[in-house]
Amino acid sequence: MARQTRADSPRYAILVVDMLNDFVHGKLKCARASRIIPNIQALLDAARKKGIPVFFCSDEHLPIDTYEMKIWGPHAMKGTEGAMVIKELKPAKEDFVVPKRAYSAFDGTGLDKALKGVYDGRGANAVIITGLHTNICDRHTAYDAFVRGFEIIVAEDGVDALTEEDHVSGLQYMKQVYGAKVKKVSEIIKNF
Ligand code: ZN
Repeated sequence: MARQTRADSPRYAILVVDMLNDFVHGKLKCARASRIIPNIQALLDAARKKGIPVFFCSDEHLPIDTYEMKIWGPHAMKGTEGAMVIKELKPAKEDFVVPKRAYSAFDGTGLDKALKGVYDGRGANAVIITGLHTNICDRHTAYDAFVRGFEIIVAEDGVDALTEEDHVSGLQYMKQVYGAKVKKVSEIIKNF
């Protein structure tokens, strides 16, 4: 068997989901989110040093997004402070910003096309999911990555949810149903 060549190795892309003022500090505050911020920072620093592309997939809602407004009320509304990425994780100039209007980062956003464009057009083949919430937007994003054939890695200490139960059930679901690998940020960085 031929030795694995560089071309076969994972071509990672980092997805940072909804690390926005409204979700961390504001209207839909997740009190647990503060503990994942330094881990995501460390992951992004390591990724940028290795030239691994980073995508900020961020809610940017319009008032007509009634499907979510009915459940959560207005949040991360386009053009407001609440829809901005938290200052601790400010996107770097080489990062990509992908606005979304539904739970999945792939839903009507062009993210899949963007993922195909990186690595000189060879495309990413593995996504590393970080951000909020494990059982909602992370999980729906993982579904769309799954049906598109991406390898899925979920940063166990880089995602979180409103409760421990929601967080654990979200991780378990992605592992069981999408074959996601659940790894600590330190482990993920070691494989870069
Ligand atoms: Zn939303």
